[in-house]
Amino acid sequence: MIHPNTKLVHINDVVGYGLYATAFIPKGTITYVKDPLELEVSPTQMASFDKPLLDAIEKYSYKDERGYMIMSWDMGKYVNHSCDANTMSTGYGFEIAIRDIQIGEQLTDEYGIFNLEEDMICYCGAHNCRKSIQPEDFDNYYSVWDAKIIPALKTIPFVEQPLFYLVEIDIKSEIETFLSNIKKYKSVYALRHKHINKVKIEK
Ligand SMILES: [Zn+2]
Repeated sequence: MIHPNTKLVHINDVVGYGLYATAFIPKGTITYVKDPLELEVSPTQMASFDKPLLDAIEKYSYKDERGYMIMSWDMGKYVNHSCDANTMSTGYGFEIAIRDIQIGEQLTDEYGIFNLEEDMICYCGAHNCRKSIQPEDFDNYYSVWDAKIIPALKTIPFVEQPLFYLVEIDIKSEIETFLSNIKKYKSVYALRHKHINKVKIEK
């Protein structure tokens, strides 16, 4: 589920839709949690799908550490990538605002964490745009992303958390452990799928 203070906006025909903040969302706010309604597609199921379904999955879902494609039932699937994203996935599964997001600002995400199988051309326009988002970005940038995630995680207890009820109990206790001892931090690299291309999809 995506943060409730967001709305879907049609940006243009090239980019399509994007998600915008309808209220101030402070740094440290959990902006997405995988909830029980999310669609999960296994690599085996993927192998039996025809191209239109595969295209939909490719466009609207992310690959988790097990190699499953996760598609949001709500507007969460419309969050666009930015090389200077204001939200980011964490090793704890949920996504977090890594800086303050102003009302009317677009929520953006780092797709390099989504276990891409192919390069993705990027037109995000950020000052640090990588121009191409690549599968190996995860290996090359995870420590840069960790450095942005850690300060945001530290502010979790101090901001409103409308999605906190969706965070699983064992993850909540991992966060408490981290907050009392930063050395117990779980890197975003925990989301890395280690068996890319195990199931070959015919297109
Ligand atoms: Zn970019």
